[in-house]
Amino acid sequence: RVALKGLSKTFGHFDVLTGIDLEIRAGEVVCVIGPSGSGKSTMLRCVNLLEVPTSGSVEIDGIDITGRKVDINTVRSRVGMVFQQFNLFPHMTALRNVTLALRRVRGMSKEDAGEVARKSLAQVGLADKAGSRPAQLSGGQQQRVAIARALAMDPEVMLFDEVTSALDPELIKGVLRVMTDLAEAGMTMMVVTHEMGFAREVADRVIFMDAGAIVEAGSPSEMFDHPRTERLQNYLAEVL
Ligand code: ATP
Ligand code: MG
Repeated sequence: RVALKGLSKTFGHFDVLTGIDLEIRAGEVVCVIGPSGSGKSTMLRCVNLLEVPTSGSVEIDGIDITGRKVDINTVRSRVGMVFQQFNLFPHMTALRNVTLALRRVRGMSKEDAGEVARKSLAQVGLADKAGSRPAQLSGGQQQRVAIARALAMDPEVMLFDEVTSALDPELIKGVLRVMTDLAEAGMTMMVVTHEMGFAREVADRVIFMDAGAIVEAGSPSEMFDHPRTERLQNYLAEVL
């Protein structure tokens, strides 16, 4: 369970997040949509402390991760995040990209880390690519390695920030397939996406953000078929 309470973030004089309240139940998939600059990435980045909130809190299973005593590495290993850019180490094989944090952060032996990594590579359909370097993989496969790397840490929640936006159209499906499988397996997920088809099919709840606030939230059919606010209506008219 993840709870954002009065989450605010200010850069200089600019209020990027203006008091976000949002609770995500264990196993729930929440898709976040909204125009560029509305604060979607900043909200996600606050959940794994890539940004420090200006005020408010983020709780994961009842623990306020913005508290002073919380160890940032513990938080990061409980929250998996995948970005638009895959951020893989180019000189390492897929397997080593996945084992790196297991060994450095978890202190696992090479053998144990290798075993966990092979399982998570298999989970994203890349069991046969463990020995390949990023340059030998397609963009979609690289993104799936990035997902495997996050999954290997056995996170409480997975955050996805426009993970298919940099991919060629024919590679998007495979990545969305992996995310759909994860959702069906009960993973708690926050997904910022422009893939409205995915949001409609997979989300339990859709959140529409504009200007740093949640303007409207509801089930996919409420949001896409019966948007209530003019702002969401206008946004959907532009993107659908
Ligand atoms: P997009 O759909 O384009 O990814 P977004 O909804 O993810 O947009 P954010 O990246 O969260 O939006 O940014 C929200 C606002 O905060 C933007 O106006 C952005 O310029 C501003 N912003 C983000 N990071 C910083 C920063 N480090 N310093 C100053 N302003 C920032
Ligand atoms: Mg963004």
